[in-house]
Amino acid sequence: MTLLLQGINASPGMAVAPILIYRNSGPVIEEKKITDATAEIERLQAALRETRAELEQLRDSVKAKLGEEKAEIFEGHLMILEDPDLIDAVIESIQNQSVNAEFAVHTASSSFIEVLKGMDDEYLRERAADVRDVSGKIIDRLCGVTQTDLSQLTEPCIIAANDLAPSDTAKLDMNVVKGFITEIGSRTSHSAIMARSLGIPAIVGVGALSDDIETGTLALLDATTGTVTIDPNEQQQHDFTGKKEQYDRQQAELAKWVNLPTLSTDGHRVELAANIGKLEDVQKALDHGAEAIGLFRTEFLYMGRNSLPSEDEQFASYKYVLEKMNGKPVVIRTLDIGGDKELPYMELPKEANPFLGQRALRLCLERPELFRTQLRALLRASSYGNLKIMFPMIAVLSELRDAKALLEEEKAKLLSEGITVSDSIEIGMMVEIPAAAVSADLFAKEVDFFSIGTNDLIQYTMAADRMNETVSYLYQPCNPSVLRLVRMVIEAARKEGKWVGMCGEMAGDESAIPLLLGLGLHEFSMSASSILPARAQIGGLSYESWSQLSQQALTMTTQDEIQHFVKSQS
Ligand code: PEP
Ligand code: MG
Repeated sequence: MTLLLQGINASPGMAVAPILIYRNSGPVIEEKKITDATAEIERLQAALRETRAELEQLRDSVKAKLGEEKAEIFEGHLMILEDPDLIDAVIESIQNQSVNAEFAVHTASSSFIEVLKGMDDEYLRERAADVRDVSGKIIDRLCGVTQTDLSQLTEPCIIAANDLAPSDTAKLDMNVVKGFITEIGSRTSHSAIMARSLGIPAIVGVGALSDDIETGTLALLDATTGTVTIDPNEQQQHDFTGKKEQYDRQQAELAKWVNLPTLSTDGHRVELAANIGKLEDVQKALDHGAEAIGLFRTEFLYMGRNSLPSEDEQFASYKYVLEKMNGKPVVIRTLDIGGDKELPYMELPKEANPFLGQRALRLCLERPELFRTQLRALLRASSYGNLKIMFPMIAVLSELRDAKALLEEEKAKLLSEGITVSDSIEIGMMVEIPAAAVSADLFAKEVDFFSIGTNDLIQYTMAADRMNETVSYLYQPCNPSVLRLVRMVIEAARKEGKWVGMCGEMAGDESAIPLLLGLGLHEFSMSASSILPARAQIGGLSYESWSQLSQQALTMTTQDEIQHFVKSQS
């Protein structure tokens, strides 16, 4: 039976493929008393055998696809599976406490994880995540749950999930995953942002997916209207194909803007940059006419793996991006982990309010060894292109000063080791916390540039969790409160002769672009797929007129009124 879902457009595009239901929450483990310990131990042994076979298969396929080194993770997992301390502890609690095998595995592995987390040695601490992974697999087997490994998909599909963590999206193979839909989330949740940078259509926040939707059912995903049609009839499929052909034609027409500068009708030039998260995104950015990289979310280099990337690995990644951009500006943001971006292997403490917690620079300043590694890698890469370093989540000046001091220390060390470091690296900060926007005049004196992070700036201004679709109506880029903050930041930068960009989603939002142009924003950084539509739009706007119209818009009272005004004047 045909089913229609409505959600929030997270990444534009249209796709048709069978649905793949992805459940990533894991089974609920209950304690049960057993009477036959021998049978329970046999059940455990069978689960261990099956898990072994699964891990061996994973190891072999990763070895074939990605090489020996990446496959070592699974050798480590196989060793955990055979660890006599762990297995004996499980068997003992089945025998002595008469508990079911899944509960015994859960309790034994939890106490192992706690011990590992308390270790001084970073390597051993990180092994806690491996024990969690392996015990999760054994428990899945015992409960009869099979989890789909997103990195192993081979057939075209549209993924339907409760949510996709950034580490899940990092695993997707774009050749087979045609799109995704999630039950929760909003336009600025990181799964949505990842979808845009990967260029795959996505709709988020569709609400609870009915149990009637089965893997394999055909779906039409229209991320221009935010609708998903499950099990469509022939007429719906026919209409969808026609609309998709027209959409693809319009996309092709935009290609004429690729190699042109971004100019308003009266010759005012701005820079259109791309936001990237993975090395593959750089080519996509260039193909879509990016004049710069305005935001490299480096945390994605830390995801989809089991340990921290080394200084050399990071250096190679930064050098790659800088060289590929061939002298064009590249703004690399230091690690912004926390919030919805987790690194399971770091075993960070759970926080009640992760978006208000020890996120991004706060964590880096607390763990300077982690931060210094990244700073050294960045400084070493600086001589290969036009690098600008940006610090995220700054609320107070001391954070900015501490970050800059650590950077200076690492620079001095490298120079004393005879390593070349560029002497023209610009240092900037994201303005994404209202405290920083309100005091932008103070910060402007101590940075070379600002980049306004409206995804967070709006969430913190409106006190509306960017992951929570029930309050997504408060994501209002054209709300007077947000626009006033944006204007304050741009003016503060202008007074100090500094440039100011925007790398939040608002920068690519067609209803905000005329206002941002008029307010004097220099750089607009967005998902690669938004660049050409933005260039075409700016190509039809007068800077002179919008300088006045944007001030007029800022006298209005609601987002609706302002958006209506922008539309009527464009
Ligand atoms: C922002 O907050 O606007 C931003 C660009 O950073 P992120 O979305 O990665 O938090
Ligand atoms: Mg942010």
